[in-house]
Amino acid sequence: MRYAETGFNLEIDLSRGNIERVETDPRDTELYLGGLGTNAKIIWDRVPPEVEAFSPDNLLIFAAGLLCGTPATGCNRTIVSTISPQTNLMAFSMMGGFWAPELKLAGYDKVIFRGKSPNLVYLWINNDKVEIRDASHLQGKGGIETGELIRQELKEPRAQVAAIGLAGENRVYFASIEQGHSSASRGGIGAVMGDKGLKAIAVRGTGDVYIAQPDEFLELCDEVLEYIKVREEKPIPGVMPILAGLGSPQEMKIHDEKWHTESFMWGNSRHRRRDFWTEEVEEAWTATMENVQTRLISCYNCPLKCAATISIPGLPTYMMKCFSKLTYTMAAMSDLDFGLRISQLATEYGVDAFSTPQVMAFALELYENGILTDDDMSGLPSTNEERFFWLLDRIVRREGIGDVLANGTYWAAKEIGKGAEEYAHNNIKKHEQLPLKLSMLNPIYFLMYSTGEKISITQMEGQFPQMPFPTREEREEFVKDWFQVPDEKFKQYLLDWELRGENSFPYYPTVQMCCDIVDWQERMHYIDDALGMCAGLSSFPLKPPYHIHNFPKFISSGVGIDMDEAKLTQAAKRYRTLVRAINIRRGMRRKDEKPPENHWKKRFPELEKELLDTYYFFKGWNKEGIPTKESLHELGLDYVSEDFIQRGILEASLETAQK
Ligand code: SF4
Repeated sequence: MRYAETGFNLEIDLSRGNIERVETDPRDTELYLGGLGTNAKIIWDRVPPEVEAFSPDNLLIFAAGLLCGTPATGCNRTIVSTISPQTNLMAFSMMGGFWAPELKLAGYDKVIFRGKSPNLVYLWINNDKVEIRDASHLQGKGGIETGELIRQELKEPRAQVAAIGLAGENRVYFASIEQGHSSASRGGIGAVMGDKGLKAIAVRGTGDVYIAQPDEFLELCDEVLEYIKVREEKPIPGVMPILAGLGSPQEMKIHDEKWHTESFMWGNSRHRRRDFWTEEVEEAWTATMENVQTRLISCYNCPLKCAATISIPGLPTYMMKCFSKLTYTMAAMSDLDFGLRISQLATEYGVDAFSTPQVMAFALELYENGILTDDDMSGLPSTNEERFFWLLDRIVRREGIGDVLANGTYWAAKEIGKGAEEYAHNNIKKHEQLPLKLSMLNPIYFLMYSTGEKISITQMEGQFPQMPFPTREEREEFVKDWFQVPDEKFKQYLLDWELRGENSFPYYPTVQMCCDIVDWQERMHYIDDALGMCAGLSSFPLKPPYHIHNFPKFISSGVGIDMDEAKLTQAAKRYRTLVRAINIRRGMRRKDEKPPENHWKKRFPELEKELLDTYYFFKGWNKEGIPTKESLHELGLDYVSEDFIQRGILEASLETAQK
């Protein structure tokens, strides 16, 4: 009997039209948990580094996290893993909504696609009846629209549908997969889905997910719900409003956008508007939001309501959460009304709301500076807003200059040449980052940006305050009920952290403290991604309801695996290292691990070198960032070191993990 997981995957060969239900090995659950962990194992085993994103041999895996489908609040993430066309590294994007629990209830933990369908198709999973169906009539349809059409066609209003829009069909490198009010957007996974000729996956499940010790498990669920109430009633003082509570940053509920609009960059990550948020702007933006926001909505089994339905007169209703509310507005230097309008179209086209606005702002900057010419931009409208709509259309259709831009700023700049690379100034590992340009080096974020393989900083940060509280009293107050820390030393790190003076950036937190903090942050995100937990209830907020002390209990009573904090930490380290190993085998090295040059004005090359050296050592990686033979052995990953040695990767590196 398998608990929490079903013990079965669906294997779909799109080239042959073959469908198999395959039993999985329970030993893998002990070692890699589920979700991202077992996805990484499958990609390591079956996708060698010679396989490129658009090869039929690339896999596209949709996984329900290990605890999805159980009553654990907010545990609803689908983890989509593949090789990214943009980075040629492993992409693992998560989406919330309802899809993953439905898959579990249909009787499967993962759907693994290989090959390519000659015609556009969709997969229909109706409990144990699974079929590949023609989707030629859905060609060109929007991501959300496709879901509606499939539900009507199947006469199954409760089917959950994950679909791509036109961008995915046309293999735009930043194409997303849309589902409900959520999307899996980073790394171009929608392009891989389009390349495979797969328009959508619809799923309906009416089965059960079994729990090993239901009474204990439900008691834990109740404790979490109780704590959510406490935290909702007691927001954290002294931090920006969107971080005071729980959930994914509450930008649908909260209209105060002073922090984002004045701290983040506008245009092509160029302009900081420090005095932007005036009373008039606040009034106008609040009115805009309240006029179009019809209701707040949640993902499966969660009371937080982070998303909202947006109904703009004349446009189809769509759903939105989080920072995508502002990305188009700020890239176009426009207003919220414009941002919400273009978001509707972008959601249907199925594009990533972080990368897309930056790609368009980048193109306009190139045009303004004579690098792109009138010939390149023939037909460009005269107003800024119209230009963004025009560019979005060209990109998702890969028409004219849109065909170049559809590969993202890194690849587009290379193709355009004439100095365009200077304008693609906001990338890490060939991928557009949040448009942030700051003053003083932040050593914690330096490490996260450099070594993160999740690509989005919002998917790495959390747990530890982003800035020190100004007074000792505030810090003492904060640590009083900070029981989520994995070790008491983190409280001291925070207590001694000052805004100015000796114990401030860039030399405090010290290098060793930064390693501890980043390791904790990363560990919690990786645990979430294996369990299917929403980061908004665990790794992202301050003082979350899920943490390193209660997760092992959830796993023990839910899955029936004997789990404690040390074992969980080791498991997370194991599959985190495996993700790194996949990327190392694909060529990633130290030279790739750096934030954009202009991310901070004040840089400290020696300190940055020390940070990276020390963190690599701390993680058991050598000076090139390659996991050492010893650390791989300790994690039971000898098969990785054998492969590295065979390929000359470990021999090719000069040093082991020694400072
Ligand atoms: S916290 Fe928000 S984003 Fe997370 S599961 Fe709940 S509603 Fe969804």
